[in-house]
This record gives sequence, structure tokens and C-alpha cells, in this order.
Amino acid sequence: MLNIAVTVWWLVFFSALGLCLGSFLNVVIYRLPMGLALSSPVWSFCPNCQNRIAWYDNLPVLSYFRLRGRCRNCWQPISPRYPLVELMTAILVILLLDRFFIGAAQSTWDYVDLNWKLGDDWPAYLAHVILFSSLMAMSAIDIQFYWVDIRFTHFAAAAGVLLHAVWSPTESHAWITPPHGTAIATTSAFAGFALVWIVLQFTTHHPPETEIADGPPDETNTTKQKPAARLALWLTGALFLALLFFAGAEEVGANPVPYALRAGAVLLFFFLIIVYEASHVRDADTEIVEAIESEAPAARRMTLVELATLLPGVFAGCGVLWWAYTSQPAAEGWSCVMQWKPWGETWQPIQGIVTAINGYVIAAGIGWAIRIVANLVYGKEAFATGDIHMMAAAGCVIGWQMVLLGFVLACFLAVVAWVALLPFKKTRAIPLGPWLWIGFLTAVVYREQLTQTTMIQNVVSLWDLLFFNISQHPLFAGPS
Ligand SMILES: [Zn+2]
Repeated sequence: MLNIAVTVWWLVFFSALGLCLGSFLNVVIYRLPMGLALSSPVWSFCPNCQNRIAWYDNLPVLSYFRLRGRCRNCWQPISPRYPLVELMTAILVILLLDRFFIGAAQSTWDYVDLNWKLGDDWPAYLAHVILFSSLMAMSAIDIQFYWVDIRFTHFAAAAGVLLHAVWSPTESHAWITPPHGTAIATTSAFAGFALVWIVLQFTTHHPPETEIADGPPDETNTTKQKPAARLALWLTGALFLALLFFAGAEEVGANPVPYALRAGAVLLFFFLIIVYEASHVRDADTEIVEAIESEAPAARRMTLVELATLLPGVFAGCGVLWWAYTSQPAAEGWSCVMQWKPWGETWQPIQGIVTAINGYVIAAGIGWAIRIVANLVYGKEAFATGDIHMMAAAGCVIGWQMVLLGFVLACFLAVVAWVALLPFKKTRAIPLGPWLWIGFLTAVVYREQLTQTTMIQNVVSLWDLLFFNISQHPLFAGPS
């Protein structure tokens, strides 16, 4: 009985949190592309009549239905996109709760309730919620305007480092702790990149980040009501309630719908939402292709310059790793610093920060490698820096392994959707943001299932075989 009360409380709490977070994301998604500040005005206003919306008309989802989807002042329809984003954020929050504390964790957690489980790994959960809601807001802007704001990824990455530092038990169920050798290389490389970045800030007058240099787009086309959008809204509501019910049921002992199926339904639904959103023909579709073509003559040279600025960091990483690899005192000193425990037996803040930086650097490295190869091969910007920022921030939270897996899934899903949409929309540009978002989410949600597949097991075995000598060295003999 107590377990049921605890479960219901947390499900209601996180649903409310998710809906409010979604309400905030709506503000972000609406205001940022228009070049409006998030803080002024502080209150919400009707996009049509600019009238201030009272708090009782601004309750997530509820107010939309109470006002029958119209503004109280000007009586113009409100886009169903607003409650849809709120519900999707709530679904995301509950799905991650299910992933970390109910569905995928059930076998090891049989005897404790949600209070206990949340107390153990809440920083990891919170970091995932921040990451995936940030990526969702970025994706919503990207899919309309082919434009991402990297302040989202900076925020998510900072939250990832901070929350890793707050709680980094060696037996965490969420974080993937790197071996010492990898951590040494990536932390030194990070220091190298930071140094180059600082030097560049003082020596060159380069234009601001290209994503922002493109300027806020001036297109708003989502205020019209469409029957399909209303249907999507009702389906989302039903899916949300079903997820709440079945996750709650499993937590209190019944298991009518297994976790893999619940998660699959949510992922399929998110996939269809992205496909639906991508199916609209927008001015931005042709504008982005023209912009890429006009910058094409300089693309190869630009990529080589980028490669040159990355080299010092790579050398720093390799050099320090070689030093630790050959010198016993260096390796011992490192492991001593890593395991610093300022308080209690499990809290290792340095280990936590280094884990986050490790994920950031390797995921960014994967992104840069893809960008450099793609741009050199195609001779134009085939993979934007905004996508690298997304991969790096995700690496900070979910680990580079999940980023790599998620990237492969993202490419696969994007190609499936692109082929499915070919009869309706002829465009050569694909906004990658939404696909990275759903790819990373799929990797995290199905991590246990995916990493047990023969294909991934084979890749891991091949890796061990190729680097047998290195993997036997104490620096690489597994996380400590
Ligand atoms: Zn109005």
C-alpha cells in the first residue's frame, strides 16, 4: 500500500515537472528564432494579439483544453503545438524515470521503492532530463529553420559536468566510467583544446559561430490549426496516460506491458512526430541548400583550417598518455588524484568531472572526424558544427559509446524517413538535430538490449583483439 502511494506521488510529481518544463521549452522554441529575449517580457503573451496571458490561462495542457484551443482575448486559435510540446516533454521525463528506476532497473532493485532508487542515482537522471529536453527544443527549432542555438548544448554539457561531480559512485547504473588511460588522454586533449581556444580568442577576429551568424530566421508558419495536429495531440495525451499507468503498474509489482514495449511505443511516436514535422515544405528547405552551395568553394579550405586548430589538443592527449603509459609514478599519481574522496566512501568528484570531460572530448572527436571526412569528400558543408556541439554535450551525459551508437541509429532513422518522405517533399537537406535527438534517446533507452546484440558484442571483441597489449596495461584494465 505504501509502495503504491510512493509510486503515485513520484509519477504525479514528475508529470507536473515535465509539463512545466515543456511549457518553458515552448517559450524557448517560440522566442529564440524570433530573436526575442527569454527574460523580457517575463510573462507569456498571445502570439496574435500580444495580450498578456494570466497564470490561470497558462497552465500546461489544462488551459488549452479549458479555453478550447483559443485565446481568451482575441479568440484566435492557439497552435496545438504548445500542448503537444508540453505532453512530449512530460512523456520524455516519465520515459527516463522508467528507464533509470523502473523498467530497465527492475531486476536489481526488487526490494526497494522509488524513494530509495531516486536517492541513489538522481543526478544521472536529472542530467539526462536536461540533456534530452535541451536537444528536443533544439530539434524543434532545427526542423523549422535549419538553425540551432549552441547555448542549449553548452547548458546541457555544463549540467552534465556539474551533476557528474555531485555524484559519481563507482557502481552507478547510469554513468559509464572510462579506464584511466582513456581519461588521461582525453583530459589532456581537453586542456590542449582549451588552450588553443583561449589563444584564438585573443589573436583573431573571427565572426561569431556560424549558427548564430546566420541570424534569427523570420519565418513563422505554425499557428494554423490542422486536423492532423489535433489528432496527434489526443494520441499524445493517451500515450502519456498509458505510459504513466503501465510504468506505475510495473513499479508496484504488476507487469501487464513490458518496459521494452512501453519504450518502443514512445520512440515510434516521437519518430512519427518528427516525420510529420519534416514533411512540411518550408522556405528554409531551399535557403539552406543555397547557403551551403554558396559557401562550397571555401568549405575544403575551412575544414583544413579547423583540422589544424585541433592538432595541438590531439598531440597533448597523445603525449601525456605516452608519459603515463611509460612512467609508473605518473600513472600512480593520476589514479591517486582520480580517487580523491573528500567525504565518505563513495563520492569521487574528480572521477566524476573527468568522466564527463572524457565523454565530451571523445564524442566531439567522433563528430569532428565525421565533419572533416564529409566536408572534404563532398567539398561543401555536409555536417554542421551545431551537430558536433550536440554530440559533444550528449557525450558529457550519456558517454561517447552511447553517442556513437546513437549516431548510427540517427543516420538509419533519418534515411528511412527521408525515403518515406521522397514522394511528398524533394529536398537534399536533412536537419540532423531531431534525428540525433531520437538516436541518442533510443541508444539510452535500449542500452541493455542493444549492447547484448551479437553485432555490438563482436565490435567490442574485435576492439579487445586489436588492442590486446594496451588493454592488458593497468591504465586500461577496466574502470576503477
Ligand atoms: Zn490573443
